[in-house]
Amino acid sequence: MNVLVTGGAGFIGSNLCECLILQPDVKKLMVVDVLDEYYDIEIKKKNLKPLLRSEKVHFYQEDILNENRMEELLKENEVDTIVHLAAVPGVRNSIDKPSFYVDVDVKGTVSILQAAKKSGCTRLIFASSSSVYGHQLLDRPHHEEQTDPKPLSPYGAAKYAGEVFCETFHRLYQMNITVLRFFTVYGPRQRPDMALFSFAKSIMENREIQIYGNQTARDYTYISDIVEGILLSLKRMNGFQVYNLCSGRTVTVGKMVESLEHALGRKAKKIEITRPLGDVRFTWGDYGLANKMLGYKPRVSWEEGVTRFATWFLQELDVHS
Ligand code: NAD
Repeated sequence: MNVLVTGGAGFIGSNLCECLILQPDVKKLMVVDVLDEYYDIEIKKKNLKPLLRSEKVHFYQEDILNENRMEELLKENEVDTIVHLAAVPGVRNSIDKPSFYVDVDVKGTVSILQAAKKSGCTRLIFASSSSVYGHQLLDRPHHEEQTDPKPLSPYGAAKYAGEVFCETFHRLYQMNITVLRFFTVYGPRQRPDMALFSFAKSIMENREIQIYGNQTARDYTYISDIVEGILLSLKRMNGFQVYNLCSGRTVTVGKMVESLEHALGRKAKKIEITRPLGDVRFTWGDYGLANKMLGYKPRVSWEEGVTRFATWFLQELDVHS
C-alpha cells in the first residue's frame, strides 16, 4: 500500500502514522499537513519528528484546498489509499467562524475526493465525528443505523456535509470509502484546546477550571483504540460504510476531574459556568457495527487511559520547564 495521510502532523494523524510505518504492507507513507495555527505549530513539528526518521515517510507542507497539488502528489507517489484527517476541529470555535469550517472541512474534503478521483485512487477513509449526531438521548447510545444525524454546531454540520460528499463520490465513481465517527479522543499528544488537556494544565498551574454541571459526560476513546480502528478499516474497505469508533461508555465531567486529580496528584479549583452554545451535554456511542464488520473492540479502560495521559502530560511539563 502507498498511503497518504492528511493532517498527519496533528494529534490523531501523528499517532496513526507511527503505527502505519510499522505495517509491512505499507510501502510508502505520504504525510500532508499545512501546519495551521489552530494551536501551536511547534507541537505539530514535534509530532512530526519521529516520523521523519523513517525512510518510508515523505512529508509535504501543503494545503488540502490546493486540489491540483493534491492530485500531483497522489499521482507521483502512486497512492492507492488516503486517510483524510486534516480539518479544523473544535465545536466552540466553529460557532464564531462557521465559514472557515465550510472552507477547510467541507471544501477541503471535496478537494481531496476530486484529487483522488482524478488520480485513480479508489480507497479513502474520512475522519468524521460524534458531533454529527447532535442531541444525545440519555437512555441509549448513538447507533450509525438508528440515529439520524442532526448536528448542533457548524463543526458537526461541516463533518456531516463531508460524509454526504463521500457517499456521493462513492455512488458516482464506485470509490471505496469508510467514514469513521470518532468520539472524544484522548491520550498522548492530545490537542491543547481539548478539555482533558486544558483542565490538566490549569490544575498544574493552580488556576480555575470551568465546568458546565457535574453531569456533562463524554464517551472518551483512547488514542490507541482509534488508531487500531483505522488500521482495521484499512483492511476491510468495501463500498461505502459508516462506523462509530468509541469506547461505548461515558465518563461524567465530575469523574473526569476526579481521575485527573488522582493521576496528577493535585486538587482542582472548579467553577460552574453556563453551557456554551453548540456544546452537547452528553455523548455516547455504540460500536456494535464496527465490532461486527471490522472486529473493532476498544481495549483501554478510562482508568488506564487517564493514567497514561497524565504520565505523558507530566513528562511534557518537565521537558518545557
Ligand atoms: P489536529 O488539529 O491535531 O489535526 C488536524 C491537522 O490537520 C493539523 O495538524 C492541521 O495543521 C491540519 N490541517 C488543518 N487544515 C489543513 C489544511 N487546509 N491542509 C492541510 N492540513 C490541514 O486534530 P485531531 O484531533 O488530530 O483530529 C483529526 C481529525 O479527527 C479531524 O478531522 C477531526 O475533526 C477528527 N476528530 C477528532 C476528534 C478528537 O477528539 N480529537 C473527535 C472527532 C473527530
